[in-house]
Amino acid sequence: MVQNYETRYECHHHDVLVVGAGGAGLRAAIEASAQGLSVGLVCKSLLGKAHTVMAEGGVAAAMANVDGEDGWQTHFKDTMHGGKFLNNWRMAQIHAQESPDRIRELERWGAVFDRTESGKILQRPFGGHTYRRLCHVGDHTGLELIRTLQDKGVHSGMDVYMEATITHLLMDNGRIAGAFGYWRESGRFIVFSAKTVILATGGIGKAYSVTSNSWEYTADGHAAAYRVGAELIDMEFVQFHPTGMVWPNGVKGLLITEAVRGEGGQLTNSEGERFMKNVDPKRMELSTRDIVAKAIYREVKEGRGSPHGGVFLDISHRGAEFIKKKLPGMYRQLLEFADVDITKGPMEVGPTTHYTMGGLRVEADSAQTTVPGLFACGEVAAGMHGANRLGGNSLSDLLVFGRRAGIGAADYIRQNPGVPVIRDEDVDAAARELITPFEQENGENPYELHRELQTMMQAKVGIVRQEADLQSALTDLQGLAERARRVSVQGSRQFNTAWHLAIDLGSMILASQAVAHCALQRQESRGGHTRLDHEGYNDYWARHNSTVRQENGDMRIGVSELPQMPEELAKLFEEAV
Ligand SMILES: Cc1cc2nc3c(=O)[nH]c(=O)nc-3n(C[C@H](O)[C@H](O)[C@H](O)COP(=O)(O)OP(=O)(O)OC[C@H]3O[C@@H](n4cnc5c(N)ncnc54)[C@H](O)[C@@H]3O)c2cc1C
Repeated sequence: MVQNYETRYECHHHDVLVVGAGGAGLRAAIEASAQGLSVGLVCKSLLGKAHTVMAEGGVAAAMANVDGEDGWQTHFKDTMHGGKFLNNWRMAQIHAQESPDRIRELERWGAVFDRTESGKILQRPFGGHTYRRLCHVGDHTGLELIRTLQDKGVHSGMDVYMEATITHLLMDNGRIAGAFGYWRESGRFIVFSAKTVILATGGIGKAYSVTSNSWEYTADGHAAAYRVGAELIDMEFVQFHPTGMVWPNGVKGLLITEAVRGEGGQLTNSEGERFMKNVDPKRMELSTRDIVAKAIYREVKEGRGSPHGGVFLDISHRGAEFIKKKLPGMYRQLLEFADVDITKGPMEVGPTTHYTMGGLRVEADSAQTTVPGLFACGEVAAGMHGANRLGGNSLSDLLVFGRRAGIGAADYIRQNPGVPVIRDEDVDAAARELITPFEQENGENPYELHRELQTMMQAKVGIVRQEADLQSALTDLQGLAERARRVSVQGSRQFNTAWHLAIDLGSMILASQAVAHCALQRQESRGGHTRLDHEGYNDYWARHNSTVRQENGDMRIGVSELPQMPEELAKLFEEAV
């Protein structure tokens, strides 16, 4: 039966709609296609232009190619230690066990990794990993990963919708029924009907002013899922990567890959001291990201920072030939965009907002969220990394759980026959909401609101937090949410970036409220969450995840107990690492 909305909007019908075409979305789409399903893949940007392609350092998998002692058990333990034991143990287990297969699979599909002399995939050291574990391609691993997945994906027969932004999820009696969005270029609306939706929309980094994230990362997936009843967890855990450029201004926030430290880069303060020896003398610069970021913060705060408010990171002692071979992208990027020659001297670096550990609660085995038929994988999903992600574990996470989301969606369709029905009034309501900014005259300016949001989040919900700031942030966020409802834009819907931002603002503010509420609730310091007024770990919080869900239109913040780790896994921690 043709629904009324189908006569008024462009419509597409699929078994599985994947939202987001980074590594997680592509891997999920490949798997769902392999299961014989009709798949639509939507992305806000061009296919292949996602954070995954920007990943430099590598992908973590216990292949034991360089250090023969490595194995999934050690990778599992490192991940749990790195996440300060707030991880979902089952996700960490699946991830550690399945990552090597996903790398071998990529290789079969055409990925060309760097090699050891005997021809195996080369692995490099990274923060928090006991052994050399990161498979890599120089410092452009993400590019090779995306190239391979894209190649495989486009030959799997899926339909790709590029430069289309999903804004709303559509429901039928508590189960997912599809999604609504718009073409960025024409501004025309699109409706997708689908038996399942897989969200792979990445993180929320654009809510902060100093960030390695690009324009797409505005928490769209988090917000859309929350609005249809999905639960978010651990939103207080935002990763501030220790080494973003602090100078020159034009590259502020630009990520300096951890591979620079993996290949021997040294951090020093204004007194020339390698300050990591005072914090983690064993691992030094290869300590976990939360620890290095906080150490840099302290150096700057105590007056031992670099001229522009960071510290120095130097790899020049490794020599120009080595640097150009191992870190060619970094070398070129910094020379071209920042006029900094890393073969000759140090960079000035400091923490930059990088990754979102929190996100949608998913079942470990199937990647299903708490909403029937809605799946999530990659950075938008939570649980895998606990309170702090280890470098390299994101690329392996998205391969492992992207595949599982594809399988999960296929299983769901088999177990839930029938085609869900989209209601006309839901589609019309979504369209009306998107048009509102054109109908409000002399309202708020979206760019101004975004700037205020970013500055406020950086200052009050940033790398260190305290009650007064968090309370004040929540008041500010309430004000920003009200003003965002009065935002106005001019012109037409055709490639109107002010309008796009006006829409994204709502999602960023919602995610920021979740982060601030959870940060206020968690009265301890753990991983990516540091409270000046609650230093150190707390026993109660060691056993609880934070939860966020919508109830009667309000944001409800709560807790849930961590799932109990089975004895055979718990025993691993009794053995020496
Ligand atoms: C500079 C940089 C370097 C990194 N280096 C590493 C590394 O070496 N190793 C590692 O493990 N991790 C690294 N990371 C982290 C890692 O790259 C990301 O966490 C990971 O790629 C996320 O993958 P994803 O598939 O979940 O999302 P992404 O790759 O971020 O893709 C998200 C997709 O969702 C789409 N999207 C978003 N919103 C919408 C919407 N509303 N509608 C439609 N589409 C939407 C986007 O257009 C995009 O296609 C790095 C990150 C950055 C920024």
